[in-house]
Amino acid sequence: THPEFQAAIPILKKIEAAGYEAYFVGGCVRDALLNLPIHDVDIATSAYPEEVKHIFKRTVDTGIEHGTVMVLDHGDGYEITTFRTESGYQDFRRPDEVTFVRSLKEDQLRRDFTINALAARHDGTIIDNFDGLTDLQHHLLRAVGNADDRFHEDALRMMRAVRFESQLGFDLEPATATALAHNAPLLEHIAVERIAYEFQRLLLGIRRSNGLNSFLTAKLYDYCPGLNGRPDAIEHMLELPNTQLKQAATGWLLLAYCLDVPAAKVLKLWKQSNSMIRTVVSAQAVLPAILAGKATRADLYNAGADGIAVAREAAPLLDANVDGAQVQQAYDQLPIHSAGDMAVNGGDLIEAGVKPGREMGQLLKTLEADVLNGKLPNEKTALLAQIKQRG
Ligand code: ATP
Ligand code: MG
Repeated sequence: THPEFQAAIPILKKIEAAGYEAYFVGGCVRDALLNLPIHDVDIATSAYPEEVKHIFKRTVDTGIEHGTVMVLDHGDGYEITTFRTESGYQDFRRPDEVTFVRSLKEDQLRRDFTINALAARHDGTIIDNFDGLTDLQHHLLRAVGNADDRFHEDALRMMRAVRFESQLGFDLEPATATALAHNAPLLEHIAVERIAYEFQRLLLGIRRSNGLNSFLTAKLYDYCPGLNGRPDAIEHMLELPNTQLKQAATGWLLLAYCLDVPAAKVLKLWKQSNSMIRTVVSAQAVLPAILAGKATRADLYNAGADGIAVAREAAPLLDANVDGAQVQQAYDQLPIHSAGDMAVNGGDLIEAGVKPGREMGQLLKTLEADVLNGKLPNEKTALLAQIKQRG
């Protein structure tokens, strides 16, 4: 019924007509069955990459060594991946060997959770070799096969487990939860960026508390940047209202707040981008004033639009008395939002006879403050008159 599937049906049919099997697989099948919006459709096939390339006129070798070929169709691109098995995993994160196979079941066997191991034919028939449908019904995340083995093969799956708990509002099936607690130290083999990606998705999920609870119980935090020995910070986060966050930066701000550390410090450990760090640092700087109900115009102005958007989302979770919309309104109503909004600039001042240099910079700063605080209108003539008056 999803248009995303409809558009791809001819592709599956074409592969079948050439004598191979083809299915929708992974997250798109799971999300469609849960009536959630789907992002991209993944297609798996028994055809080998070279065979896929023979079937379609226009293809791109996006990840051909892993068996993925992109098929171009009416302006859309579809990733088609050959069934494969994986073996080795000596480094707890990557298979040493990938082997293409003809059997769907073998491909489903390498997937992380039963709900992610469902396949659908173009007519909607579901192929469910690991009771994923039952787990879907019961809202359970269960590792495919032996959970211990699966987390040993790829330790990132532990972060994916807590991320999906939050994203879908599911719980861990008991054996999977036990394996999580036993294998948490393996997270040390995983790159920080990949852990951060999953943790951020956990923070943005519909049931953050589900993911955070398992993250806490299994002690995954002990192997995450800046969180070692800090269960208190996760407990603190769990005490906050469980409302879904709109912005990743808000999640990171809440983490820094609950850790009671400067955001720049913890976000650098998590290898976040400079723009993310800048936003969260600005939000963290204005947060105490907002929580105390005494943010001045200068506080709001200095936080900037991005900082305010984040602080106003976080503040009501930390103090129910704060009205985020009111904070936003106070910011929106500021006479100016950056120096660029000023009706005069350095050039205008020079024209008016002010000598360039440090004093001019200071003059501009005082004018900016006066405009911000409503002492002067943000009009060129009024500001230039003021400059003359001040000599
Ligand atoms: P979403 O798109 O919401 O992140 P998804 O299930 O599509 O969810 P992807 O990371 O896009 O997640 O992966 C697609 C599919 O590939 C998964 O559903 C799963 O079957 C498989 N998969 C991805 N990562 C792993 C992994 N680390 N171990 C085993 N299987 C995996
Ligand atoms: Mg996906």
